[in-house]
Amino acid sequence: MSPDNTSELSKLWSHEPHAHLRFKPGDLVSEIDANATPGFTGAKSDAPALHAERNERFAGLQEMLYANSRSGDRRSVLLVLQGMDTAGKGGIVKHVVGASNPQGIQYHSFGKPTPEELSHHYLWRINKALPAAGHIGVFDRSHYEDVLIVRVHNLVPPDVWGPRYDEINTFERELVDAGTTIVKVAMFVSLEEQKKRLAERLDRPDKYWKYNPADIDERLKWPLYQEAYQAMLDKTSTEYAPWHIVPCNRKWYSRLAVLELMIEALKSLDLQWPPADFDVEAEKQRLKNA
Ligand code: AMP
Ligand code: MG
Repeated sequence: MSPDNTSELSKLWSHEPHAHLRFKPGDLVSEIDANATPGFTGAKSDAPALHAERNERFAGLQEMLYANSRSGDRRSVLLVLQGMDTAGKGGIVKHVVGASNPQGIQYHSFGKPTPEELSHHYLWRINKALPAAGHIGVFDRSHYEDVLIVRVHNLVPPDVWGPRYDEINTFERELVDAGTTIVKVAMFVSLEEQKKRLAERLDRPDKYWKYNPADIDERLKWPLYQEAYQAMLDKTSTEYAPWHIVPCNRKWYSRLAVLELMIEALKSLDLQWPPADFDVEAEKQRLKNA
């Protein structure tokens, strides 16, 4: 079934992408083909037109979510983006989220914690960044860093990061119960493609700002990251907040896929335009005479 029966272009998806991309118990990080385009039957050349059309759909749904919050709807959506350097988190923010009305977006990137953040529980800075009612929150990295880089570098001992998986599940359960739909996206780029993308950052002065010498140190720990990503997926992909595995060697694909995941999440809220809380006919009359 195509994701929407509103257009021909949408039929380029053989199935709703979330069905393909949703993490299933037993899925192995070591077997992810980062070049793959699961569920997409079209070609790269179809991407621009489809992307433009789906951006519009996304923007319309986002506006509807926001509009409902003005009349008391408490619901929100949270997009969690996790991935190794160069996986394309920034591109998702720019090309997927960027198409919507900034009024309803709350974007946060989570880098190395500040001394103040470190003095608090690791979820402290996350709690402060959660989307308000009607908003779409976007986390460029997230609380999952506290079981990824923290685990890989032993920034705290295993008896401290170990219990975090359960704690994160509880935290997300509460968020969902309070009306937030969580869309978790694990972005996978291959080791070779990462090398190309890092090389490009070093070749282009307009990309130096994206390069960090520490990226090479992280790259050298790839196998440990693979293990940490596997544990994250195994332990925190829940029925109420499942992970999606998005192959990212082809940027056009990963952007289309995340766009569909967001549209799917918004559609599941079954939104309608809020009815007028005034007498429309009476207001029309008043305006005529005003
Ligand atoms: P970037 O996303 O390229 O700006 O890089 C941010 C860096 O901050 C990445 O290397 C992350 O792994 C790191 N980072 C994010 N959260 C944490 C955390 N909780 N503890 C340690 N490092 C973190
Ligand atoms: Mg970086």
